[in-house]
Amino acid sequence: MSSAEPTPFSTHQIDLAALLETYGSPLYAYDGATIRRKAGELKQAFDGIDLKIKYACKANTNLAILRLMREIGVELDVVSPGELEMGMIAGYNASQITFTPSGVPFEEVRSAVDAGAIVNVDSIPLLEWFGQTYGNTKPCLIRIKPNVAAGGNAKIMTAHADSKFGISVLMLDEVLEVVKKYDIKIVGLHQHTGSDIKDAEPFLKVADILFEAAKRFPDLEIIDLGGGFKVSYLPGDHVTDMELLGKNISERFNTFCNEYGRKLQLWFEPGKFLVSESGFLLVKTTVVKEDPARNFVHVDSGLNHLIRPMMYGSYHHILNISNPGGPLKTYNVVGYICETDTFATDRELPEVRQGDVLAFLNAGAYGFTMSSNYNARLRPAEVLVDNGNARLVRRRETLEDLLKTQMDI
Ligand SMILES: *Cc1c(COP(=O)(O)O)cnc(C)c1O
Repeated sequence: MSSAEPTPFSTHQIDLAALLETYGSPLYAYDGATIRRKAGELKQAFDGIDLKIKYACKANTNLAILRLMREIGVELDVVSPGELEMGMIAGYNASQITFTPSGVPFEEVRSAVDAGAIVNVDSIPLLEWFGQTYGNTKPCLIRIKPNVAAGGNAKIMTAHADSKFGISVLMLDEVLEVVKKYDIKIVGLHQHTGSDIKDAEPFLKVADILFEAAKRFPDLEIIDLGGGFKVSYLPGDHVTDMELLGKNISERFNTFCNEYGRKLQLWFEPGKFLVSESGFLLVKTTVVKEDPARNFVHVDSGLNHLIRPMMYGSYHHILNISNPGGPLKTYNVVGYICETDTFATDRELPEVRQGDVLAFLNAGAYGFTMSSNYNARLRPAEVLVDNGNARLVRRRETLEDLLKTQMDI
């Protein structure tokens, strides 16, 4: 290991142009080394704490990524039976998987519990059902809504009072009533505040709320503080200072454990933090339109492959791989979907020519997993570069894939 901590904007050691040449366009490419480095950073920051990392795999469920996570000792947080199944196909034991549902049919909870996963109960009716169904025979965690507003924007805040997620911390009396009625075994309290949280302060605030609530549950083994760590989107961006955050939360956590009278496990469920910076969406420039109003760069991809800019207004840094030293010009980079489909507005890029390869950064999280077949477009292939090897980990879709659920062909 080199001593200097590389920044995400100088370390894409993988040869993006060569990958596109080999596997075609558009293409999702992931750098395994980045995932390993990010997981290492998190573990390092909580050195001395009984820490478990539960990768929130909705960010990226490629089985090769799940297998890599498993290899480096990272467990899983899933939000659906499909994700649970994929985790098990990737080799996880169900006991290493947490199911964190959001108002799902109770039968989904039953199948997860019967498979051996542990559940984050997110409503009083589900808690009732859980008690009636399992009594004290199965452990569960409770998802608390701490009524704290934090996160990058309103669409990705999940712990404010108006959020649909979890059981309000103001309803603890009711929770305890149900727990008592069925003798339910609550082994952990969970919360997930939102995404793109930079500072330790919101984590400490919700941690304190959870610690306070925890005093009312005598059999806890786990405090689960969710995910949401901010990653860098821009060169020089302010990101979560993991070392400082680790130090601050560890201190508070140790104090809490002393008060509680027992050492507990501390869980986090990062999605973005582990995989965002590892991923690139590589596309080709189809047309450069020098319009009187604006210069448009059209590419062979769109919101069907990467919806974050249109859905959340997310910023994805763009590199012109084919002409990195070209003179800077200002462009709108747009997709081919018949719908407003803008990746970037007024973006300065080295001059873009027809056929140039562009790379969207931070495409490892919520890229492929949020993709669709809108406009009857096919999803791209995915490639993982790990231990010096590039490997196709999902083939490009074909028209047959699109037609296979249609009955009238
Ligand atoms: C989505 C999600 C996460 C991960 O959020 P990131 O911002 O990607 O870290 C963690 N926990 C739960 C319950 C989630 O739904």
